[in-house]
Amino acid sequence: MEGNEGEVEGRGGERFNEPCLRVILSGSGMDLSGLEGDIITWAASPDGVFSVRSAYRLLLCEEISTLPRSSLTAQTGRLWKSIWGLPLPPLVRNFLWRACRGALPTKIALWKQNVLTNPICDQCRSGVEDEMHALWSCSELASVWSRESWLGPISSQNFLDFKDMTSTVLSSNTKCESALSGYLVWMIWHVRNKKRLQQSGGTLEGINQRAHDRLAEFNVPRASGATPTAPITHIAWSPPPPGCLKVNYDGRSSPRQTKWSWRGDSEIVVKAVKSPNSSLTTYGHIVADVQCLAA
Ligand SMILES: [Zn+2]
Repeated sequence: MEGNEGEVEGRGGERFNEPCLRVILSGSGMDLSGLEGDIITWAASPDGVFSVRSAYRLLLCEEISTLPRSSLTAQTGRLWKSIWGLPLPPLVRNFLWRACRGALPTKIALWKQNVLTNPICDQCRSGVEDEMHALWSCSELASVWSRESWLGPISSQNFLDFKDMTSTVLSSNTKCESALSGYLVWMIWHVRNKKRLQQSGGTLEGINQRAHDRLAEFNVPRASGATPTAPITHIAWSPPPPGCLKVNYDGRSSPRQTKWSWRGDSEIVVKAVKSPNSSLTTYGHIVADVQCLAA
């Protein structure tokens, strides 16, 4: 917007009455006195142009940010953090996360999508197969989980769903034990899939030992430091000396520094720099400096 004889002009040619604009802004409790020399910007859109849509989004974001975060959301956030922090390969961590979100192609999920005609577990034929059943509560898995004595009373506890069970296991046990449970559910799922496809290896026999071995294999190189790590280089921004301008942008100057050329892939910045109109963004003063240097 540009001030001109008591009016403010939008970049699209719309004209607003400045006194009217000041009334609107002062209604928000803003003190507009003593603003001579300052400029009005609109930070709710990338190009600084006001739109009803951008205003709506701004108000919506403000409202959401003031809502109290429910304890359930906070609890879920802690669970995701715990899962991503487990000493497991990313593939297994991702599987555990998907299982907690109920995103596995279980029989109940496929039945709901009309892919299967019944949601009953193929192993025990006595329960609906969801994540909780397929990975934990199916009677066929009793021998697997009963061998993990570190689970203690958790093995006979009732849970709401797989996410609830995982949350309890992760919060009640060490990282190593929690990771072992992650390996076990991942391997149980693979055995289940092989059984369904009648492929070899579809047996739960020896699965506990295999899970222990896989966990040990994954963590040995990490513990011994066999994988060399690159030295950490700390890079920090430093301000330019007084009287100098630092531009963090791809650019070059001629040897005599009388000409500048700029190169970049930010469409918004390039458009703002090339535009004959003044930028109404919060970085409009930087765009003005760039235009001045490039002139
Ligand atoms: Zn079953």
